[in-house]
Amino acid sequence: MTADVIDGKALAHKLRGEMTREVSQLKDQAIFPHLTVIIVGDDPASKSYVNGKKKASAETGISSDIIEMPSSTSEDKLLEKIYELNSDKTVHGILVQLPLPVHIHEQRIIEAINPDKDVDGFHPINIGKMMTGNDTFLPCTPYGIITMLHSYGIQLEGKHAVVIGRSNIVGKPVGQLLLNEHATVTYCHSKTSYLTSFTADADILIVAVGKPNVIRSEHIKQGAVIIDVGINRLNDGTLTGDVDFESAAEKASYITPVPKGVGPMTITMLLSNTIKAAKGLSYLGG
Ligand code: NDP
Repeated sequence: MTADVIDGKALAHKLRGEMTREVSQLKDQAIFPHLTVIIVGDDPASKSYVNGKKKASAETGISSDIIEMPSSTSEDKLLEKIYELNSDKTVHGILVQLPLPVHIHEQRIIEAINPDKDVDGFHPINIGKMMTGNDTFLPCTPYGIITMLHSYGIQLEGKHAVVIGRSNIVGKPVGQLLLNEHATVTYCHSKTSYLTSFTADADILIVAVGKPNVIRSEHIKQGAVIIDVGINRLNDGTLTGDVDFESAAEKASYITPVPKGVGPMTITMLLSNTIKAAKGLSYLGG
């Protein structure tokens, strides 16, 4: 293997240590960061993500609570709960775990959250601020990826960044953040013809597809930086990314593993956004 492995777990640990100290200082000023997570229904994966967020918050000194609502909850009932939390001064961050049951209009829910408390960074106001390069809550996974790249001193300006995937939560925003960093950005997706003609030219390749082994050594350029966002559970229960790690690591300069790559950074950036919300630095761009 020639690539340096980007250790998301270690970086997340370091950042969480810094955040723990910051939270403690905030408490000295009588600011007690608090995150409220709403989960609708009983999807086991969602429950496990939510519990992970609660545990990470507690380790950093951020208090949190989980509001569990049955899958039969009406959209109006959920909206009512969000409005209540919007006006609760003790709640700094509100996160509604996605996906929601099909009878609830996801976008309507996202837009109901006060942008000042939108620690997921999904509200159109916050997305607009991100697009225009203004300070705001950044979506956690893209924010984590950019933080990783910065921490490893990887140059972005002038580089060709290729993003595979165009979801609202990963692909589109990570491309926008790379553009904000002066990379030249290409988006690819399931309808892209000749995917390899783009990936083979990428200095930085972000893979957010959700299919194991879509990217292998033959798809990448010598010395490329490979960020594997995918999380796929194989039949034997093991987790794997979208990239064939072994073969890609022979050619890449840097590569993220799965697990212990992007995943731990995502929750870390949620904590960062919650602290930012508690400090009141979101909407007004402080
Ligand atoms: P989506 O399913 O919303 O998006 C997947 C994207 O991949 C789509 O844009 C799709 O194209 C594209 N795509 C699918 N097949 C191909 C293909 N063969 N070639 C090129 N592009 C393709 O997924 P998400 O963005 O939500 O998540 C992506 C992955 O990242 C998942 O594995 C998810 O679990 C993981 N994830 C990990 C996180 C972490 O913290 N590590 C956080 C969030 C997600 P099209 O738009 O045309 O359909």
